[in-house]
Amino acid sequence: MMHERRPLLAANWKQNLLWHDIESYCEDLRAGLPDYFVEDSEPAIDLLICPPLCYLGLVGALLEDSHVYSGSQLVSMEGGGAFTGEVSAQMVADLGCDYTIIGHSERRNLFGETEEQIGRRIQQAFDHDLVPILCVGEDLETRRAGREQSFVLRQLDAQLQYLGDIDAGELVVAYEPIWAIGTGENASAEDAQQMARLIREWVGSKVSSKVSESVQVLYGGSVKAGNIVEYFSQPDVDGALIGGASLSSESMIAMLQACLAQLRI
Ligand code: PEP
Repeated sequence: MMHERRPLLAANWKQNLLWHDIESYCEDLRAGLPDYFVEDSEPAIDLLICPPLCYLGLVGALLEDSHVYSGSQLVSMEGGGAFTGEVSAQMVADLGCDYTIIGHSERRNLFGETEEQIGRRIQQAFDHDLVPILCVGEDLETRRAGREQSFVLRQLDAQLQYLGDIDAGELVVAYEPIWAIGTGENASAEDAQQMARLIREWVGSKVSSKVSESVQVLYGGSVKAGNIVEYFSQPDVDGALIGGASLSSESMIAMLQACLAQLRI
């Protein structure tokens, strides 16, 4: 099966792993994924690691000269200045990162992030050439009430003013139903496809048809080696955002290999 867009598997480590864990993780990736560490190879699937901010430099150094991308889980909404504790998009880009996760449900729900704050982070990402991975997704109550589509469309509409001017290839949207994150409970592959299609159509009608063809739509929520291919084989799902199962290099390699095998069919 061929994907129209370049597939992406993104690891969100959240607030996990320490220096020595990261050293052995990256060493195992080098051993398990030799193609990703050869300069003139071009792996068929993009791989992205999003460690805690304080380890971005370490991950960048350990994965240097590889085709594995790195990204942050957060960027400041401010460009720079007296904002104690904050890390700007410019700093993240300066560390060699290409992506940043924005609007993750844990940020929205545990840290009270508003749509306006999410939009300002997206703006910062664009200003410093980071590709934002915008996370959207409904809670269980909304899903039970059958209102998940209007919920996600509202989240997207709230970001329209920040996404209006983008060019093709600059945006990733992750559909992450909150009830499936870290719970072991999954959305069905059909649910993921339906929502990915909806997101792509929204981009087509509100942003541009060019961006709708290139936007990478990921599914996230208890993805693991045993189920990733179900999602990956959906026509509008271009990969996955993976939390728990990305914490072990072994399972990350297994997920990648399962997707590579699917591409060869
Ligand atoms: C996430 O936090 O983005 C996520 C999808 O987590 P998990 O894979 O653990 O459900």
